[in-house]
Amino acid sequence: MTAKIINGIEVSAAIRADLRERVTAMADRGVVPGLAVIKVGVDPASAVYVRNKVRACGEVGIQSSQYDFEANVSQQTVLDLIGDLNERPNIHGILVQLPLPPHFAIADILQTISVDKDVDGFHLYNVGGLVAGGTVFPPCTPYGVVKILEHEGIEIEGKNVVVVGASNIVGKPMALMLMQRDATVCICHAKTRDLAQFTILADILVVAVGKPNLILPEMVKTGAVVIDVGINRLPDGKLVGDTDFEGLRHKVSHITPVPGGVGPMTVTMLLANTVASAERRLQTQSERLLTSVAS
Ligand code: NAP
Repeated sequence: MTAKIINGIEVSAAIRADLRERVTAMADRGVVPGLAVIKVGVDPASAVYVRNKVRACGEVGIQSSQYDFEANVSQQTVLDLIGDLNERPNIHGILVQLPLPPHFAIADILQTISVDKDVDGFHLYNVGGLVAGGTVFPPCTPYGVVKILEHEGIEIEGKNVVVVGASNIVGKPMALMLMQRDATVCICHAKTRDLAQFTILADILVVAVGKPNLILPEMVKTGAVVIDVGINRLPDGKLVGDTDFEGLRHKVSHITPVPGGVGPMTVTMLLANTVASAERRLQTQSERLLTSVAS
């Protein structure tokens, strides 16, 4: 068997084209979606991520505003800014680039962002909604994986899904989102004994760990769908995922490459959440107007 290599750049481009149309439709009604991006300190990786997000906003017509602070800024200063951005009608999404310096209580920062502007999906309300329903914004990376599966026409309902990696930003929300879609989900982590006994059962295997070659061909069922979220830089500078891509591509039915698989989807789903937020606001305003005209 030779796998279909899922092209995340193409899936992402299709979603961004749709977003551009929706942004144009809103512009006709006088609304431009706005995203505020807050960065603290000079972490080089964070600088690259923020630059990519700001550039991507420009591509679909989202107005981005960037707030850069020195690493020694007080937490209160950042909380005050978030409070201000929460009130601004032209801001539909607020993103605080992680990690933050050690003197920050990340939970305090994330809980201060208004739920209806939490386009990263990290506020406890949005996290809790993954269990109880009612999430306003799904977290971007797992949301991107779901969109890839949908785009490829891969059925989720009733499938055995194994998620390897149990972080709060990828593995756990991923497992919950696939449970919501009626998959039978197993989640593995660093203390899982004999990882292969679980991965071999997967119809859909999602791997988000950060260890090259963690998943080998003998650990995977023939014909499985493999989504590799991992990003690892090898000593020779090459970027790879968590799976033995060359070995797996002759055994599975679908696989995402690294780079060019899940990576491009994460930023795209941030844009999608921001556009959805602006549309939601417009809808609420229209409903209020109708109610006031009717009364
Ligand atoms: P993380 O917070 O470090 O979590 C890693 C998870 O992997 C933890 O749950 C850990 O288990 C588990 N783990 C560690 N070693 C393991 C092993 N040998 N077997 C099974 N599970 C193991 O990482 P993350 O933020 O979720 O990111 C995971 C990977 O995805 C990284 O490579 C990251 O760069 C990448 N990533 C990519 C994107 C994208 O856009 N493509 C976005 C986010 C992250 P414990 O919980 O027991 O410690």
